[in-house]
Amino acid sequence: MVLADLGKRLTTAVSNLTHSNVVDEKAFDAMIKEICSALVEADVNIKLVANLRKSIKHAVNLKELGPGVNKKRLIQKTVFDELVKLVDPHNEPFKPKKGRPNIIMFVGLQGSGKTTTCTKLARYYQARGFKSCLVCADTFRAGAFDQLKQNATKAKIPYYGSYTETDPVKVSRDGVEKFKKERFDIIIVDTSGRHQQERELFAEMVQIQQAVKPDQTIMVLDASIGQAAEAQSKAFKESADFGAIIITKTDGHAAGGGAISAVAATRTPIVFIGTGEHMFDLERFAPQAFISKLLG
Ligand code: GDP
Repeated sequence: MVLADLGKRLTTAVSNLTHSNVVDEKAFDAMIKEICSALVEADVNIKLVANLRKSIKHAVNLKELGPGVNKKRLIQKTVFDELVKLVDPHNEPFKPKKGRPNIIMFVGLQGSGKTTTCTKLARYYQARGFKSCLVCADTFRAGAFDQLKQNATKAKIPYYGSYTETDPVKVSRDGVEKFKKERFDIIIVDTSGRHQQERELFAEMVQIQQAVKPDQTIMVLDASIGQAAEAQSKAFKESADFGAIIITKTDGHAAGGGAISAVAATRTPIVFIGTGEHMFDLERFAPQAFISKLLG
C-alpha cells in the first residue's frame, strides 16, 4: 500500500462516520476498526495500533458525552491528534548553528539511501547559507567513495575520502579535522551500511562516533522496511544513540508504517523525508503537517 492509499483509507473511514446520520457506538466502532486495519496493513506496529484504538475510545466516550457536544468534530479531532502522536515523539531534534562546526553522522542499513541523503542534506544546508561538506567513512563497500564523490561534485559540495586508507575511524577523524580547520559549518560523515547482525560493523560505527563526536547522529530508514523496523531501530539505538531519523523512498510503493513505528520504538523525531532520487527530493518533516497532508 502506498502512503496516499493509507491516507485515503483513513479519510474515508472518518468521513463515512461524519457523513452518516447517526453517530452511535456501532458506527464509531466500525470507523476505529477500519482505521486500525489500514494502519496494520501499512505496517504500523500492532501494539501501537492497539494503543491508538484505546486512546481514541478513551477520548471519545460516546455514552457520556453531553447533548451539546459536537460528536463528529470531536471524533475528527481525536483521530487527527492520535495520528499526530504516532509520528511525534515530543523530542526536539538538534538544530545546527552557523559559525561553528556542526558534525552530523549518518548510520543505517546498506541500501537505505544513506549516501544519497547525505548529499541531499549537505545541499539543503548549503542553500541556507551553511558552509557544508561531506566525509566518506565507508571504506567497507567498494565504490562507496566514488559514489559520494560523484554526488558531491554534482551538488558542488566539498568532500573528503580515501582510496587507500582502509581504517574508517582514521578517515573520518582526518576528514572532520580538516574541515573543522577550514571552518565549515556542517560536516556530514557517511558511514558504511550494515546488516543488523554484523557485529564488527556495529563496533566500527561506535568507534567512528567516539572519534568524530557528532552533534547529531541520524539514522536513515527505507520507507519499505515494514515490521522489522522496530527491532532494527532499537539495535541501532543501543549502539549508536541516534537523535533523529530520516525516512527515504516515501515516493515508493510502501506506506511507511514500519518506519513510523521506529519513531515510537526509539522516541526519536523524524527530521526529513526523502521523496525521490534527485538531489532536491528532501522535505522537512513536521508531524502535524504530515498528518494533515496524509488525510488530504
Ligand atoms: P546507501 O547504501 O544507504 O548509501 O544507499 P544509496 O544512497 O546508495 O541509495 C540506494 C538507492 O536508493 C539508490 O538507487 C538511490 O538513488 C535510492 N534512493 C535514495 N533515496 C531515495 C528516495 O527518497 N526515493 C527514491 N525513489 N530513491 C531513493
